[in-house]
Amino acid sequence: MSVATQQFTLRQANQAFLAQPRKMLIDGKWVAAASGKTFAVFDPGTGREIAQVAAADKADIDLAVAAARRAFTNKAWAGMKACDRERLLNRLADLVEANADELAELESLDNGKSVNLARYVDVVAAVDCLRYMAGWPTKIEGSTIPVSVPYMPDAKFFAYTMREPVGVVGQIIPWNFPLLMAAWKLAPALATGCTVVLKPAEQTPLSALRLGELVLEAGYPAGVVNICPGFGETAGAALAAHPDVDKVAFTGSTEVGKLIVQAALGNLKKVSLELGGKSPAIVLPDADMDIAIPGAAMAIFFNQGQVCCAGSRLYVHKSIFDKVVDGVAGVAKGFTVGHGLSPSTQMGPLVSEEQALRVASYIEDGLKSGVEAVTGGRRLDQPGYFVEPTVLVKVKPEMKVVKEEIFGPVVVAMPFDDLDEVVTQANNTIYGLGASIWTRDLGKMHRLAPALKAGTVWVNCHSVIDAALPFGGFKQSGWGRELGREAIDLYMERKSVCAMV
Ligand code: ADP
Repeated sequence: MSVATQQFTLRQANQAFLAQPRKMLIDGKWVAAASGKTFAVFDPGTGREIAQVAAADKADIDLAVAAARRAFTNKAWAGMKACDRERLLNRLADLVEANADELAELESLDNGKSVNLARYVDVVAAVDCLRYMAGWPTKIEGSTIPVSVPYMPDAKFFAYTMREPVGVVGQIIPWNFPLLMAAWKLAPALATGCTVVLKPAEQTPLSALRLGELVLEAGYPAGVVNICPGFGETAGAALAAHPDVDKVAFTGSTEVGKLIVQAALGNLKKVSLELGGKSPAIVLPDADMDIAIPGAAMAIFFNQGQVCCAGSRLYVHKSIFDKVVDGVAGVAKGFTVGHGLSPSTQMGPLVSEEQALRVASYIEDGLKSGVEAVTGGRRLDQPGYFVEPTVLVKVKPEMKVVKEEIFGPVVVAMPFDDLDEVVTQANNTIYGLGASIWTRDLGKMHRLAPALKAGTVWVNCHSVIDAALPFGGFKQSGWGRELGREAIDLYMERKSVCAMV
């Protein structure tokens, strides 16, 4: 592992964006918090403050929800034709694409990830999600249903179903893919005609605020999209509990997901959740090592391991265990670690001091209980929130490092003997977001894929996500599916109309 030098100058547009306190977007206007409070945003690569952002609290959430409610029934939005909702969403996608380099730089600075990753994964995938969802408004259909009504033998009916937007939606997103998560949330809501109050994570509010400017530039009516940065316990909790919010969509930890469910109880708002994971990557003895080794490494180290479906439990057949583990450790050792904006950086810092401490304490806890680090195992002794990419072996199923989501560049590797055993081990978790199988044996692949309790099973790849492919979790990894047709369903009610004719 080598350390990249820090050499970069911010684009002028971003310098200007960061120079003054950023406000929140309510009812089409940029406003300060009612309390006047702001909070600091830090560069994870240096630990230095880069911006001040308005801190939304309950009073601001109330204003934003009221604006979203007005916009929901306002003719400018409620009466907009499906083809015009399509055009608007495509215009927003075009604007994100036109500002891709600037957005990627902002994202890298705010989150810590390498600017190349931000540019060619986050921004590209955000544009793709907006475009995919832009295709839906004109394709949302109901159906006609032949009803018989057995207790009214002589009556005739014409019955059909229709779809309606669910209403005002609260969306609470995490810090690992800030712009992309905003796109995953906004795109289906806007495609279906909902209105939104979006709360970005307090660690990474910047790209969502820039996206808000592009939303206005695209021409969305005032109040359709409101963006309220702030803390979870204040702004997030107020949004989740708000009696005039019809649905809350949340991505984040399972722990907070449970709080969202409790907060939603008051008015029984609809809830969709994309939560934590501890996803297994399973390498069978016949796997192509040239694919499986770098694949298993990227399954965990991509985005510094801050991926809800990261392959954080590596199960390798005992006959190839040493080879695969050495190979994955070799990939880790080869990374150039550094500031996200340094051109040579392959792995950036973690998002925050808190996250770096959390990840380091998991590693320490493991090492104390007899786990061995094949590589990594330390926080880097330099400014910023850097933790070494780490491969742990000699772990036991009951250990915290095996059971709990670390959300950092830390993988636990375990040998297995046969398929039944690895299925039992892989499923021995409260989570069920993703799983990957690395093999050339189709028969074994088809035995494993249905047996794994996970929302997505990848074969010879991991964390491959597409706007058309539903994504979400079994068990405590969530409720509902984002992306694909299922995401549209999350934002719509179905109404049955039954007419006696
Ligand atoms: P992490 O632990 O990875 O930071 P969280 O689940 O805490 O993830 O955060 C994800 C999002 O949830 C963030 O936008 C955060 O502000 C928000 N959040 C945290 N706590 C609450 C809460 N009690 N109610 C609503 N939102 C919250």
